[in-house]
Amino acid sequence: NKQVILKDYVSGFPKESDLNIVDSTITLKLPQGSNDVVLLKNLYLSCDPYMRLLMTKDTTAGLGALTPGSPLTGFGVSKVVESGHPDYKKDDSVWSLTKWEEYSLVPTTGIFKIEHNDVPLSYYTGILGMPGMTAYAGFFELGSPKKGENVYVSAASGAVGQLVGQFAKLHGCYVVGSAGTKEKVDLLKNKFGYDEAFNYKEEPDLNATLKRYFPEGIDIYFENVGGKTLDAVLLNMRVHGRIPVSGMISQYNLTQPEGVTNLAQIIYKRIRIEGFVISDYFHLYTKFLEFVLPLIREGKVVYVEDIAEGLENGPAALIGLYSGRNVGKQLSFSQEQ
Ligand code: NDP
Repeated sequence: NKQVILKDYVSGFPKESDLNIVDSTITLKLPQGSNDVVLLKNLYLSCDPYMRLLMTKDTTAGLGALTPGSPLTGFGVSKVVESGHPDYKKDDSVWSLTKWEEYSLVPTTGIFKIEHNDVPLSYYTGILGMPGMTAYAGFFELGSPKKGENVYVSAASGAVGQLVGQFAKLHGCYVVGSAGTKEKVDLLKNKFGYDEAFNYKEEPDLNATLKRYFPEGIDIYFENVGGKTLDAVLLNMRVHGRIPVSGMISQYNLTQPEGVTNLAQIIYKRIRIEGFVISDYFHLYTKFLEFVLPLIREGKVVYVEDIAEGLENGPAALIGLYSGRNVGKQLSFSQEQ
């Protein structure tokens, strides 16, 4: 059972050498008579920014830290190998929190059975899984969007961002996205349908840039990066604007948070800034699938994935998220079905 192990707690920017690939000789077996865990063969493993937060000893993220020497945990798409639970049969496809290894024993609480197989299985790590739910709940539930409103999305071509932009366009909003390379900016404009897009690395004065794209201000800022970006956005929010705070990837590798000095704008503009953790919204999953599956089938929403081949290439793919190496949803293809 090949595994990706966290060697030790990480401080600062993660490196490939923080993770080890090992071959464990233990054969996993379903405990006799057990019906509350299933044995899964992991096919696709999702690379998600929050995973860095689990690598810090005294993480304040409220997610619980990993133990050095243990495999990474994360979302994945798997096949059921063995199950004593009536809802899960051998060869069923599922997505769940699993481990970075070929085979895992996973509790049945928190497993989602995959019922729709006419779309790529890998989508259940992205558009049809946790990031898709994040875009949906963050934008519609927390953003309370109205037609014609002005929406700004950071990390706009990523797993979550590319969907927020498309959902906002379908809702009749004016949408601007930022990303860190020309290739990504082209995707924003030509594939995801953003009205405007820019490379934030080429904009030395983000406040001025935002004023150019939003002369009347921003109604909804979908926050993915935090830091200096949030600071410039605060100056450009409209009165009663909303900021669903999905993530702050610019802060995850810092030992001291940095970049925000304009917090008083929250008062002046009566801005609603609301953080959320997507697992609190998983009860909306069926409603979300009813919304998004027809859009995928009709080609009204597209999804770009960046798939690393092989579990051994997973660590580099994961770490690449923090330098923007990924183009679209990053995942790792672990093994054939
Ligand atoms: P992405 O696919 O967008 O990948 C991360 C991207 O972030 C990179 O490609 C890079 O894009 C950008 N980035 C990396 N470092 C920085 C930096 N220092 N400053 C600015 N941008 C940076 O990831 P996801 O779509 O999966 O996640 C987006 C955000 O949503 C993250 O903050 C994540 O933690 C959060 N999230 C929160 C959830 C929740 O429950 N609240 C659930 C899922 C995600 P670029 O080239 O554009 O710089």
